[in-house]
Amino acid sequence: MPTLRYAQRRLPIAEGQSVLDCLLAHGIQVPHSCRSGACQTGLMRAVDGLPPPNAQAGLRDTQKVRNHFLACICHPTDDLVVELPDNAEQAAAIPATVRGLELLNSDVMKIVLESHDPLDYRAGQFVTLVRDSQLSRSYSLASVPGEDEHLHLHVRRVPRGRASGWVHDELRPGHRVELRGPTGDCFYTEGSPQQGLLLIGTGSGLAPLFGIARDALRRGHTGPIRLFHGSRSRQGLYLKGDLERMVRQYSNFDYVPCISGHDVPKGHASGRADQVAMTDIGSLKGWRVFLCGHPDMVKSAKKRAFLAGASMKDIHADPFVINPPPLAAFN
Ligand SMILES: Cc1cc2nc3c(=O)[nH]c(=O)nc-3n(C[C@H](O)[C@H](O)[C@H](O)COP(=O)(O)OP(=O)(O)OC[C@H]3O[C@@H](n4cnc5c(N)ncnc54)[C@H](O)[C@@H]3O)c2cc1C
Repeated sequence: MPTLRYAQRRLPIAEGQSVLDCLLAHGIQVPHSCRSGACQTGLMRAVDGLPPPNAQAGLRDTQKVRNHFLACICHPTDDLVVELPDNAEQAAAIPATVRGLELLNSDVMKIVLESHDPLDYRAGQFVTLVRDSQLSRSYSLASVPGEDEHLHLHVRRVPRGRASGWVHDELRPGHRVELRGPTGDCFYTEGSPQQGLLLIGTGSGLAPLFGIARDALRRGHTGPIRLFHGSRSRQGLYLKGDLERMVRQYSNFDYVPCISGHDVPKGHASGRADQVAMTDIGSLKGWRVFLCGHPDMVKSAKKRAFLAGASMKDIHADPFVINPPPLAAFN
C-alpha cells in the first residue's frame, strides 16, 4: 500500500483512494470543489515522487514540469510527498549580493545578483526582491540558468515608486538583499520544438521575454520565435543591439521594435506591440504566446491572441501590476 506524506504526517492510501479522499479521511482540510479534476481547485504539488500522468490532465506544461497535480483524481501507485502549491512557492528568503548595476536606458536598471543558495528557477519566472520587512516587490528573471552566472532583473523607475526608487538611487554593488520565489509559469518548456513562439512585451516586460527567448534557443527550439517589444518612444526600448545580434545568429529568431508614439524612426514598426504582432502574424493556431508588461496591453493581447486561434492553455501572461500605496500613505 503506498504512503502519502503531508505536513510531516504519514498516511496510508487505501486502494482506489484519491489523495484528496485520503487527506479528508484523516481530518486534513485542503481546497477542493468539483472532485472530478475539472475546476482545478484541488491543485497540489509532489515534492518527492511523481504524480501519475492522468492526475495532471488539463494542467499547463509549466505546472506539469513542477509536479503539480489534481488531488481529487490522483491515485498514487508509489509513495508520494505532497504539499499545497503556495507552500512550495513561499519558501524561505534567500540572501543575495548585488554584483552589478547597469542602466539599460534612462529608466531601466539591470541588477545582477549572486544568490547565496542555488535558486532553482526558469528564465521568465519572477522573484520577490526584499529590501526589508517594509518593502518587497516582484521582478522577472531575465537571466538563463546555465548560461548566465548570476540572476538578472530589469527594474523600471516608476515615478514616486518606493522599490524602484530604492533600486535606482540607493542600491549599490556589494549590498545584501533577499529573494523569495521563484514563482510564475511564464517560461519555456521543451516538448514542442517546432511550435511558433510569440513574445510581446512593453517596457521592462522585455525582461522575462529576453530570458525565455534565449532559453528556447539554447534548448534547440527550431520553430519561429518572434519577439515584439513596444514603447511610446525610441528611448523606452533597450537591449536592441543584443536582440539584433540574436537575429543575425539564429535564423528562426525575429525581433520587432514597436513605437506607439508619433516619432517612429526607420527600422521600427509603428503602433502598439500587440497590434503590430497580431497584424503581422495573423493566425496563432498552434502558437505559444507570452505576454508581459503593462496590464492593459497584457489584457487586450490575451483576448486578441485567443481570438486569433491560440489555445488558452498556451497563453502565458504576466501583467506587471503596480499597486498604489494605501490612502494613509499619501497624508
Ligand atoms: C508578476 C510581476 C512581475 C513584475 N516584474 C517586473 C519587472 O521585471 N520589472 C519591473 O520594472 N517591474 C516589474 N513588476 C512591477 C513591480 O513589482 C513593482 O510594482 C514596480 O516596480 C513599482 O514598485 P514601486 O515600489 O517602485 O512603486 P510603489 O511605491 O508601489 O508605487 C506604486 C504606485 O503608486 C504611486 N505612488 C507611490 N507613492 C505615492 C504618493 N506618495 N503619492 C502619489 N502616488 C504615489 C506611484 O507613482 C506608483 O504609480 C512586476 C509586477 C508583477 C506583479
